Amino acid sequence: EKIDKMSSEVVDSNPYSRLMALKKMGIVNNYEDIKNQSVIIVGLGGIGSVAAEMLTRCGVGKLLLFDYDTVEIANMNRLFFRPDQAGLSKTKAAEQTLQHINPDVSFETYNYNITTIDSFEHFKSRIEKGGIVPDTPVSLVLGCVDNFEARTAINQACLELNRSWMESGVSENAISGHIQFIVPGETACFQCVPPLIVASGIDERTLKREGVCAASLPTTMGIVAGMLIQNTLKYLLKFGEVSYLLGYNALLDYFPKDNIKPNPECSNSICVKQQKAYQEYLKSLPPPVAVV
Ligand code: ATP
Ligand code: ZN
Repeated sequence: EKIDKMSSEVVDSNPYSRLMALKKMGIVNNYEDIKNQSVIIVGLGGIGSVAAEMLTRCGVGKLLLFDYDTVEIANMNRLFFRPDQAGLSKTKAAEQTLQHINPDVSFETYNYNITTIDSFEHFKSRIEKGGIVPDTPVSLVLGCVDNFEARTAINQACLELNRSWMESGVSENAISGHIQFIVPGETACFQCVPPLIVASGIDERTLKREGVCAASLPTTMGIVAGMLIQNTLKYLLKFGEVSYLLGYNALLDYFPKDNIKPNPECSNSICVKQQKAYQEYLKSLPPPVAVV
C-alpha cells in the first residue's frame, strides 16, 4: 500500500518534474535555467549523438549539431542511430529523433567539414552568434570528433573567440576515454600538451591514427558521453565541481583526474596571448582578505 502511494506521487505528466526534484533536494538551485542554455556539438558519432540525446532529455534550450557524415549500418554497434536512418546525414537523422523526444529544444544542423576554410569561418560565427538570444555566443562547445585536424580546428576557433569548450575521446581499442574542459589562457589547450597526458595514464591513442580500423564499444562511448554531459550540466547550472581532465580506463575501472596548466611555450600563439591576458587578470584582482 505504501509503495503504491509513493509511485503515484512520483508519476507526473510533466517529464521534467524529476529533474526539477533536484532543486527540491538542494542539488541544483536553478534547474530551469537549462532552458536558457545553448550547446554546440561537433561530431555525432558514438559520443556526440548520445551526448545530444542526454541534453535533449534534460531540456536544454538549443542544440547546434555539426557533422559531415551519413548514418551507416556499420554504426549500429553504437547507441542512438537506427538501421532505418542509414543513408541520412547524421545531423538530419539526429534532429529528427531528438525533436520527437523533446519538441521544446530548438535545433540548428550543419552537414559539413568544420576544417575547410569557408566552413571553419561559418562554424566560428555560430559559436559567436548562435546563442538563444540571436547574435550572442553559445553557452558551450563540445568536441566529439575522432581526429586530430577536427580537434585542432575546434581548439583554434575557441581560442580565437576566447570561449570555453570540452573535448572528448575514446581510444582506438575502445577500452579507455577522456573528457577535458578547456578554458583559454587558464588551462592547457588542445595544442599545449601534444602527446596527450603522460602523468595521468590516459591513453594517447585516443587520438585516432589514419588508416587504422578503430574498435568500438557502446559501453565505453556511453560512459564517456555520460561523463561529458555530467560535466556540462555542472558547468552550465553551476553545481558540484567541474572536472578539467577526467579519464576512464575500462579494464581497471580507474578514473584519473587532473588539471593541466597551460604551456607557456604552446605552439598556438593565441593560446600564449590568452595565457598572458589571464595572468594580467589575476594580477588585477584585489588581494585576498585575511580571514580572522
Ligand atoms: P568510425 O570512425 O569508427 O567509422 P565514426 O566516424 O562515427 O566511426 P566516432 O568517433 O564515433 O567515429 O564519431 C566521430 C564523429 O565526428 C563522426 O560522426 C564524424 O563524422 C565526425 N567528424 C569528424 N571530423 C569531422 C569534421 N572535420 N567535421 C565534421 N564532423 C566531423
Ligand atoms: Zn595551448
